[in-house]
Amino acid sequence: MGEIIGIVSGKGGVGKTTITACLGSALSYAGHRVLLCDGDFGLRDLDLVLGVANEIIYDALDASEDKDYMDDAVVSIAENLDFLPASQSARWEDIGRKKYKKLVRRLCEEYDYILIDCAPSLGMLTINALVAADAVIIPVPAAYLPVKGLVQLLKTISMVKRRLNRKLQIEGILITMADFRTNFAKDISAKLYEAYDSTIGIFKTYIPQSVRAAECGAEGISIYKHDPNGNAADAYHRLTLEVLSHEN
Ligand code: ATP
Ligand code: MG
Repeated sequence: MGEIIGIVSGKGGVGKTTITACLGSALSYAGHRVLLCDGDFGLRDLDLVLGVANEIIYDALDASEDKDYMDDAVVSIAENLDFLPASQSARWEDIGRKKYKKLVRRLCEEYDYILIDCAPSLGMLTINALVAADAVIIPVPAAYLPVKGLVQLLKTISMVKRRLNRKLQIEGILITMADFRTNFAKDISAKLYEAYDSTIGIFKTYIPQSVRAAECGAEGISIYKHDPNGNAADAYHRLTLEVLSHEN
């Protein structure tokens, strides 16, 4: 059975989609069967980041009109790497928590990792993903003090754990878009370590602020193709090793 990992923050623009795409590609390069799941139904950024041709997405959406839409909607991106695009947001919300969980769980038999790129809010779509997931990765930018948002997210996760999904684990907080040439970024990450490293856990790897990473989103290509020897690709590689080392 595969592991379902939600990339969740409750905030927009923290790098969730980029992390989902990069971690997913790296896991698939390492030989794992990976499904990237667009949990950000309505926005559909992940297809852009992945550079999936629009026609393929729309074919998948058409196919998703069928009853068995989860299975039919899966698109192959590369060897070992599949993608489940978001359908029209209203319809996905209609599915409801239990059914969503059942459908995603069924896909677990075919994959080693299912990564869910969560919506930038703590609404129903994110709760659905938290209920279906085994674990979450929480990206937190080192560009501003995101403590309030993080506290709210942690409360939501603990509510889901208590009431809806007892086995939900936090893989760790992932410091992102960090520019450690600035004291501000250093201070924020020091505060995060102090507050959360011993309790929740913070990935040793941080994702650096990188124009190259930003360009990937705009151009729809993988960081491993765009700048394979750069510091962003290296960070995603080390993050992947950490995720693999968490495997039980
Ligand atoms: P949303 O909540 O709006 O879906 P998100 O959390 O999925 O946003 P991304 O879309 O991955 O975030 O990233 C936000 C923007 O930052 C994009 O323009 C992306 O290209 C850019 N970006 C991603 N990673 C980095 C990075 N390491 N350094 C600089 N820019 C980045
Ligand atoms: Mg996104």
